[in-house]
Amino acid sequence: MSPPPPAFGSESAALPLPLHLGGDLRLTRQRREVYDILMEQRDHPTATELFIKVKERVPTISLATVYNCLETLTGAGLVKQVNVDRSPSRYCPNLDDHGHFHCTGCGSITDINFKDGTQESHLQLPRGTVVSHIDVAIKGLCPACASQAKKRKPETKKSRSSLN
Ligand SMILES: [Zn+2]
Ligand SMILES: [Zn+2]
Repeated sequence: MSPPPPAFGSESAALPLPLHLGGDLRLTRQRREVYDILMEQRDHPTATELFIKVKERVPTISLATVYNCLETLTGAGLVKQVNVDRSPSRYCPNLDDHGHFHCTGCGSITDINFKDGTQESHLQLPRGTVVSHIDVAIKGLCPACASQAKKRKPETKKSRSSLN
């Protein structure tokens, strides 16, 4: 009797993942493309945004397949799902301990690294607590949006003084 087929990589064009990324998860062409685009751009796209980009390389891919690939990659721990408010999930291939900055001006999401060590060292947790996951989300304006907002402010002052 033959062994049951593996959960992943039943497609013929399966590519092995670099060893440092762990495990023997085999990446199909589609999963590889989805992962590559995430790694190249690092702008935390939604599944739909990814789909548009992957389609340029794999014209036959469907949105459902992209969702499938993301599910596999997330399940394998290669990609993290990032949720901001109720907007669609974004995807991040950065496996280092990091948080996310969400710009309320332009909607961009950027990785935030922690100055020293892990985030846990900054928290007052009860002794003996075992942390399995920390999700740090910071909201505000990115440097570009913040400087634009600054430029706009003086105008409101002027219009007030002109009332006299
Ligand atoms: Zn911004
Ligand atoms: Zn990230």
